[in-house]
Amino acid sequence: MLIYNTATHKKETFVPIEAGKVKLYACGPTVYDFFHIGNARAFLFFDVMRRYFEYRGYDVTYVQNITDIEDKIIARSIEEGIPYDQFASHYADAFLQDSKALGIKPPHHQPRATEFMAEIIALIEELIKRGYAYEVEGDVYFDTSKLPEYGSLSGKRIEDQKVGARVAENLLKRNPTDFTLWKRSKPGEPVWQSPWGEGRPGWHSECVVMSQHYLGETFDIHGGGVDLVFPHHENELAQARAISGKPLANYWVHNGFLNIEGEKMSKSLDNFFTARDILRQHSAEAIRFFFLSKHYRSPIDFNREIIEESERAVGNFRQSLKEIDFLSLDESFEPNDQLQKLEAEFQAGMDDDFNSAKAIAVLFEINSLIRNRQLPTPERQNAAKMLVKLGRVLGFFQNLEAAEELPDQSKQLIELIIKYRAQARADKNWALSDLIRADLAALGIELKDTATGVEWSYKE
Ligand code: AMP
Ligand code: ZN
Repeated sequence: MLIYNTATHKKETFVPIEAGKVKLYACGPTVYDFFHIGNARAFLFFDVMRRYFEYRGYDVTYVQNITDIEDKIIARSIEEGIPYDQFASHYADAFLQDSKALGIKPPHHQPRATEFMAEIIALIEELIKRGYAYEVEGDVYFDTSKLPEYGSLSGKRIEDQKVGARVAENLLKRNPTDFTLWKRSKPGEPVWQSPWGEGRPGWHSECVVMSQHYLGETFDIHGGGVDLVFPHHENELAQARAISGKPLANYWVHNGFLNIEGEKMSKSLDNFFTARDILRQHSAEAIRFFFLSKHYRSPIDFNREIIEESERAVGNFRQSLKEIDFLSLDESFEPNDQLQKLEAEFQAGMDDDFNSAKAIAVLFEINSLIRNRQLPTPERQNAAKMLVKLGRVLGFFQNLEAAEELPDQSKQLIELIIKYRAQARADKNWALSDLIRADLAALGIELKDTATGVEWSYKE
């Protein structure tokens, strides 16, 4: 298998540390809001990576953290007047619910930073003891000038870092790239006790502690979105190297952005749609399909039309399975040469740095075999079994029994209600038409009467 390694800028053959095992860590959400559909790209991609390794016979340990200590969480909880821990755990729970709704298989461990405070403090103490960190007025910083290899992951060099727009001026720091390990708290902020007084840890230490706790000093793959390469992953790596002299992970893997109108979708830019909102209008499978039809490293534009197209594509697969009455078939099968060849193509695609776009193209080919009425039924049935087998590797067809077309059906129901409202209006039954509008509004569905008819939308 080839994996593109951010640390070396090239595709490398994957060699696990322990034969047959994969130890994978991907950065999870910072829980100060519902996660957005850009975050979903990262969560879905690492879910697929994990599923693919499992399909290839690896014993995978997948850890995804939940960052529940962070400046933005503190700021938002204060703004909304909700106690910090209650606020963070509300959005952490929402994250788990939405991940489930997206069909993401629960990682083996989902630690929260607050559960690792003692270990985080111990790491910072060790860094100070080794001369890699210094305390100033209750803050603790990592001294990047002490680590000659600092910048190796992102290619950034200390000399290039001017105190300025990107690195906020902080007179307490010795070098612009020095980063916070511990931050003294201000009045009103949540506090944890430490040898440096009351405060909280920096984000970069949390992930080092949680990943090493479950996966060991050096593990196979560390991942996240491309925005995390610098400073987050660079700073994680720096701490690990300072302690052990070894890399934190052998492969660093980063997904590209989901953009909206050419800009990164992000909570801080306030140009985002939550996964929760999008799931009201599109099925989890269509969202998965939308992302997987592009290579994970390419940027992708948020585009409702393409999500609609994805909806039709997954609907088409499901229709084929219905036609062949897949649920009545037993799972075992012996694929013929053609299906074996298609499975090999699927693998070749995924082996090449998780090229899910190629893998999806193979699913289409298999689908056309199911649809081909010239073929004998057993062959079409076997093609259906192959479609489900490989589709499941990408996370599709998890629950074929359940009426997963529900989002589509609920759209049809809304259209139907709008039709009845139009009839009420035609009958000049204004009371009924107003009642329908008000009842739909109470369900979060807004109607707009336009010259060309009624338009409806979910309330933002
Ligand atoms: P955060 O909650 O901001 O810490 O992000 C959680 C994960 O989502 C990280 O791996 C980010 O790199 C990733 N991420 C954030 N925004 C985007 C985006 N627009 N497209 C793809 N991945 C993203
Ligand atoms: Zn992290």
